[in-house]
Amino acid sequence: MFKKNRHGIQIKSPEQLEKMRAAGLVVGRTLELLRKTVEPGLTPLDLDAVAEKAIRDEGAIPSFKGYQGFPATICASVNEEVVHGIPGESRKLREGDIISIDCGAILDGWHGDSAITVPVGEVDPELTELMRVTEESMWAGIAALTVGRHLSDVGYEVERYVRRQGRYGIPQEYGGHGIGTEMHMDPWVANHGRPGRGPKFEAGMCFAIEPMVNLGTDRTRVLADEWTVVTMDGRPSAHFEHSVAVTHNGPWVLTALDGGKERLQGLLSAGADGDGDKSGDAGL
Ligand code: MG
Ligand code: MG
Repeated sequence: MFKKNRHGIQIKSPEQLEKMRAAGLVVGRTLELLRKTVEPGLTPLDLDAVAEKAIRDEGAIPSFKGYQGFPATICASVNEEVVHGIPGESRKLREGDIISIDCGAILDGWHGDSAITVPVGEVDPELTELMRVTEESMWAGIAALTVGRHLSDVGYEVERYVRRQGRYGIPQEYGGHGIGTEMHMDPWVANHGRPGRGPKFEAGMCFAIEPMVNLGTDRTRVLADEWTVVTMDGRPSAHFEHSVAVTHNGPWVLTALDGGKERLQGLLSAGADGDGDKSGDAGL
């Protein structure tokens, strides 16, 4: 069955991690398809249809659809929308927008969850930089997912990276989570805070790491649709997410097509196992 450690965190066997990887790849491939599909004139609902078909064509199930009543396969959050935007037809994508696409799938009972923020055509350089900072902060957090480090090290590394890049807002009320036989499992993973706290990482734990970074204030509110989170000041926000397994060879990025190998190179040189080059391999 499903093993949990003394903190109630699900521990996957190597065979179960292979199933998590298969689910993660469905999500990763779907997002790569969406990245190429985004262009001015399309609506978020158009992207939702592409995503649902891609996931179902792989024999998987879109996990967002019906989740607590959410009506779609993806969350599509444009510009000032931070997360949880409902794909609709009323807001056509325009040159200069950025869109965050969050996507989840279930394959053989196991979940993958990942998000990217994509430019629509040419965008302002400060938006390109916002996306870069957000994505890099995610990788800084992912690199902390090594055996023996603490849960709060992820948020510490995310926040530390963002603060070094300039004045950005990090919404504190949203964060990552454990993932496995359900999309959202214990524990919650903050994108800020002090290091060295909480449970230690063990091989077989899986987490979704998902920083959101705002160009302006860190304050957010939820629209009347009860889903869409927007920045309080209306300035843009970016969101990146990967599902990641802790292994004895370092973080295995389940929703990255290469397992995270390329992006983690260099970030892991001081890793707990002292051999960061092995990250991204499929084995435990
Ligand atoms: Mg997600
Ligand atoms: Mg998530």
